[in-house]
Amino acid sequence: MTLAPALNQKPLRDTHGRTIKYLRISVTDRCDLRCRYCMSEKMTFLPRSKLLSLEEIAIIAERFIARGVTKIRLSGGEPLVRRDVAELVQRLGHNIGANGQGGSLEELTMTTNGTRLAQHAEAMVDAGIRRVNVSMDSRDPERFRYITRYGDVSQVIGGIYAARDAGLAIKINMVALKGFNEDEIAPMLAWCRDEGFDLSLIETMPLGAIDEDRTDRFLPLTKVFEDLGQQFTLARDAHKTGGPARYWNVDGTRTRLGLISPLTANFCDGCNRVRLTTEGKLYMCLGHDDQVDLKAALREGGTAGLDEAIDAGLFAKPKAHDFRIGQGEGPAVARHMSVTGG
Ligand code: SAM
Repeated sequence: MTLAPALNQKPLRDTHGRTIKYLRISVTDRCDLRCRYCMSEKMTFLPRSKLLSLEEIAIIAERFIARGVTKIRLSGGEPLVRRDVAELVQRLGHNIGANGQGGSLEELTMTTNGTRLAQHAEAMVDAGIRRVNVSMDSRDPERFRYITRYGDVSQVIGGIYAARDAGLAIKINMVALKGFNEDEIAPMLAWCRDEGFDLSLIETMPLGAIDEDRTDRFLPLTKVFEDLGQQFTLARDAHKTGGPARYWNVDGTRTRLGLISPLTANFCDGCNRVRLTTEGKLYMCLGHDDQVDLKAALREGGTAGLDEAIDAGLFAKPKAHDFRIGQGEGPAVARHMSVTGG
C-alpha cells in the first residue's frame, strides 16, 4: 500500500490535557491458554478475514510514531501465536531511534504468556526488544494448569529463563486472586528478587463475560501490600512509565514491585495510552466502549483518513474508567482484555 506523505504531524493530546505517547497493539485475539478470569472456556475468536494485515498494523503504528508515540507494546490474545509476529516485530523494530518518517520509537516491548517465548526470544532481541512482561499467576504446576485450563508452567518458566539468557529484562505479571494464589504472592516476590525480575501485581478487572463471578476472586491490593510490607523492605520508587502501576523497590535490590490497582486506586489522571485491536479499532480506554475504526479509515482515506480518525478518537478519550466490582454487577464492558490487548 502506498500512502500520501504525512501532513498532520501534530502531537496527540486529548481534551483532558494528556499527551498520548504509548500505543498498545493487540496483534491477535487468539490465545493458547484460557485463563479463567480472562475468558470463557468456549471463547469465540474473530475470523481471520477481519484482522488487520501485518502491513496495516505497521502503517498504523508508524503513523502513531510520526505523531509522537514513543512506546509500543505488542499484546493480545497471545502475540506469539500470530504466525507472522516475528516479521511484525522486526518491521516495528526498525522504528527504534529515528525512523526516517519524522518519528522515533524509544521502546518496543511485548506482554506474553511465555509459552512460546523460548522459540522467539533471540529474534525479539535482534529486533530491538529489551524487556518483556510475562504473565504467570502461579508457579505451581497444578494451580497453573487449573487457572489457565490447560497450561504447562514448566514451558513458561523455561521461556522466562530463555528470554533472560537472550538478554531480555523480565517483569512477571501476576493477577492476585482471592482463594487461589494469595499464599503465592510473597514467594513469587522472593523468587523475582532472587532471579533479578520485576513483579507487577494486578487486580482482576471486570472485562468481558467469563464462566464465573469475578467478585469471588477479587483481592484488593491494599491488603496484599500491607502483608508484603511485613516480609520485605519496600521503598517507594519514583519510576514512572506513564502507566497505571505504582512501584516499590524490594529489599534494596533492583527488583521493582508494581501494583496495578484499577479498583482500589484510580490511575487515569496520568493515562498516556490508547489501544489498537487486531480488527483495527482504536479504543481510548480499557474501561469504555468508545472506539474509532482505523482499518476503515486507512482503507478508505489513507494517511489523511487515519489522521482524521485518530483525532476523532482522541477527542472522545474519556477522563477515567469507571470500573466497579460487586456481586451481580457483571462486566463493566463486554469486551475481553484479550480483544483490547491487556
Ligand atoms: N497473552 C498475553 C499474556 O498472557 O500476558 C497477553 C494478553 S493478556 C490479556 C495480558 C494480561 O492481562 C495478562 O497478565 C493477564 O493475566 C491479564 N488479564 C486478562 N484478563 C484480565 C482481567 N479480567 N483482569 C485483570 N487482568 C487480566
